[in-house]
Amino acid sequence: MSFTDADMFHLLTAVSFAVEKHDGTHRKNSQAAPYVTHPIAVAKELLLAGVDDLDVLRAAILHDVVEDTGTSLAELAAEFGEVTARLVSEVSDDCTQTQVQRKKAQIEHAATASRGAAQIKLADTLNNVESLVSDAPRGWSLAKIQGYMVWKAALLDAYSGANETLENRLQTIFDGLISFGGTQYPAIPSEPSRAEQLDAYYKLLESEAVAKSDAALVSVPVD
Ligand code: ZN
Repeated sequence: MSFTDADMFHLLTAVSFAVEKHDGTHRKNSQAAPYVTHPIAVAKELLLAGVDDLDVLRAAILHDVVEDTGTSLAELAAEFGEVTARLVSEVSDDCTQTQVQRKKAQIEHAATASRGAAQIKLADTLNNVESLVSDAPRGWSLAKIQGYMVWKAALLDAYSGANETLENRLQTIFDGLISFGGTQYPAIPSEPSRAEQLDAYYKLLESEAVAKSDAALVSVPVD
């Protein structure tokens, strides 16, 4: 692949836009790296996997700005064109939904996703699970980590066919081991069935959401 000066300019413009929009936010890992390291890494994974479509790479760099920073699709379209904005829209969650609804919707959206959006989704998934394997967010239980892996494996199934390199790398992680508290465990247990594990993961997230809203109620001062 070879990029022109104009291509490089467009990519770097997207990087500086994402850096500004994600400014002040951090990843959930122990180093709390600046959040923008994630979308940049996703674009890098796509390049390494042979994706050289400029709109797809640019949308990868921008893939979380709508969901996480409140940037509008209109602003993206004005800055980067309709094709990039549409790709970002395809991989953005509906933020009015609950966490579990959003996770289910991501799997369902695969049926109508464009190839570019599916490639971004796979690279995003790869960067997310690699981060989790190397440095899980503090406070995550083994059940939550394995549940997350099961959900990401369901995403891989749903979006497969878009990029073989990314899919093989994801499959290797899901077939492998993870380290938790100094012991090795399968990334995804062989039983019960994937469907049952996925269901248990959604229930775990729902109970966490209830616990969180209860805690919020308790903290309201009562007179
Ligand atoms: Zn992402």
